[in-house]
Amino acid sequence: MEQDTIAHAGERVLLRATKYDGAAHWIQPFRVVSDDGTLLVTEYRARTPIYTSRGEFRSPYNSRVYFWRDRWYNVFRLWKPGCSVALWYCNVTTPPTFDGNQINYVDLDLDVAVRPDGCIELLDADEFAAHRRRYGYPADVIGSAERAAGEVAELARVQGFPFSEG
Ligand SMILES: [Mg+2]
Repeated sequence: MEQDTIAHAGERVLLRATKYDGAAHWIQPFRVVSDDGTLLVTEYRARTPIYTSRGEFRSPYNSRVYFWRDRWYNVFRLWKPGCSVALWYCNVTTPPTFDGNQINYVDLDLDVAVRPDGCIELLDADEFAAHRRRYGYPADVIGSAERAAGEVAELARVQGFPFSEG
């Protein structure tokens, strides 16, 4: 089992998400808000450069991100500076690890978008279907990813934490 480290409030960390073949997919800088050993919470400031497999990207949204080390999804709470929450964007991934500098996981394509009006949408099911064939996702990974998408959608539906944060 990979060793996991506790992150400290105020530290700068990098999220490094790969695809299943290990190729870098998304590298985003954050500042740590809190970490209890299971739930690591970080913040991103709008316009800070993000590296993506499609090139550099500067999100217009601030975000607060919830990474649980024992869950197959994370939740990005996105808002424009000076505005209230615009969207929660949930990524289905392998459970994240933190090595002291980087948060690492494999992005498993499926996403769940949750709007403040309560609209919940499953995204990228087509990409998941293509990648499970291309990369040969094992059956347990497919099952965990599909369950995770359902779990986070249900959490949003009942407005559980962190969807209760407004
Ligand atoms: Mg996706």
